[in-house]
Amino acid sequence: MKIAIVGGGAAGLMAAAAIIETNPEAEIFLIDKNEGLGKKVIISGGGRCNVTTGIQDVKTVLTKYPRGGKFLNSAMHKFPPKEAYEWFESHGVPLKIEKDLRVFPISNDGHDIVRIFEELFRRSRVVLLMRTQVVGLEKHGDGFKLKLKGSDDLAIDKVILTTGGQAYRQTGSTGDGYALAASLGHTITELAPSLSALLTQETWTAEISGLSFPNVKTSAGQFQASGPMLFTHKGVSGPAVFAFSSLVAFEKFDNQNPLEITIDLFPDKTAAELTRFIESFKRSNPKKSWLNILSQVVPKSLAEIVCRHLGLSAKNAGDVNKQDLAASVDWFKKMTIHVVSRSAGDEFVTAGGVNLKEVDPSTMQSKICSGLYFAGEILDIDGFTGGFNLQASWAAGRLAGASAAA
Ligand SMILES: Cc1cc2nc3c(=O)[nH]c(=O)nc-3n(C[C@H](O)[C@H](O)[C@H](O)COP(=O)(O)OP(=O)(O)OC[C@H]3O[C@@H](n4cnc5c(N)ncnc54)[C@H](O)[C@@H]3O)c2cc1C
Repeated sequence: MKIAIVGGGAAGLMAAAAIIETNPEAEIFLIDKNEGLGKKVIISGGGRCNVTTGIQDVKTVLTKYPRGGKFLNSAMHKFPPKEAYEWFESHGVPLKIEKDLRVFPISNDGHDIVRIFEELFRRSRVVLLMRTQVVGLEKHGDGFKLKLKGSDDLAIDKVILTTGGQAYRQTGSTGDGYALAASLGHTITELAPSLSALLTQETWTAEISGLSFPNVKTSAGQFQASGPMLFTHKGVSGPAVFAFSSLVAFEKFDNQNPLEITIDLFPDKTAAELTRFIESFKRSNPKKSWLNILSQVVPKSLAEIVCRHLGLSAKNAGDVNKQDLAASVDWFKKMTIHVVSRSAGDEFVTAGGVNLKEVDPSTMQSKICSGLYFAGEILDIDGFTGGFNLQASWAAGRLAGASAAA
């Protein structure tokens, strides 16, 4: 049996490994337009590769996908993070779980993850067709014909499409797979960037660019996300913002209609607690500037912005009244920013993709075209940061490979 895997990213690599394990006799053609395998795996996690999550409970893991969690149920139970962890370790790459439950190779090097597959393929019947772009996919009888740019067509029995999304296009993920899937009858849901920094109308963020908070809560209506946050030259970034961007991936906003977000810089403290804390400083230091008092709570650079906006820069603690104090606390508990756009081209994943209704979640096979399988970001599945996107690709890739080879 000849199986073609189109796309040598996380999902395609794991699909090929699963075929080797399931049916060593199968002939595998792994096709990628890049010169090397796993280009995005290598750069993921800032080059350290946050390969999966340390969260063990599969139900909890599935809540980390704003889209596709339910669909992943079967694949994730068959290859949960714990098994992914063991699989990578048993293939010679020791891993570690960090405090925030992200999992990395101990070497902090994504190349080590890709090397596992390269070695596996060297020992197996995998034909690597690198620098090869698939430009067409046709059903021919029970099999398929793959049209390759600059090469002869390839006749194949089964095809696994793992071409990824269209984020970080320089890694080869340019969304080609959507057209290939559509040519065989699939529908593609609306696509949008997800896991990106957000740009704000407020320009003062530039003054505190680089300032971070370990745990904030961001909210706008029903959308809420928590975690570390970072102010940037043009807005806000960091895990809480990435998660938030994922929740609002399909919301429309711009300069004329910005999205108002409230940020609680101290979600572990109530407004009353924070007020009491600041009040006690104020009482014992009436001659100190209000800026100095607020600098006990947040870095001076942010305290300066708060004082300026509230017209309190020239006031001493003794002159600050109850309303001023309440307005200052509001800045920390209900900071309001207006998001005008996403940081274009910097998003980590694409939300949307091949319609999940058209794919069997227990095999990853197309319900429309038999012999065609999908895995990875090409599907309408995306997760938060923390290893969830790679985990989804490993799990679905494994299931697609095993099903195609069976
Ligand atoms: C900067 C960055 C950091 C990230 N960090 C993390 C992280 O630490 N942890 C995490 O879980 N997730 C992370 N992600 C997300 C994660 O990397 C992706 O969700 C995941 O790699 C998707 O895997 P995939 O196999 O579906 O697609 P991809 O990895 O995108 O692979 C698709 C492959 O298909 C090939 N291809 C496309 N079209 C064709 C064609 N027509 N012919 C031939 N080949 C084709 C491409 O060249 C590419 O190699 C990160 C993403 C980015 C951009």
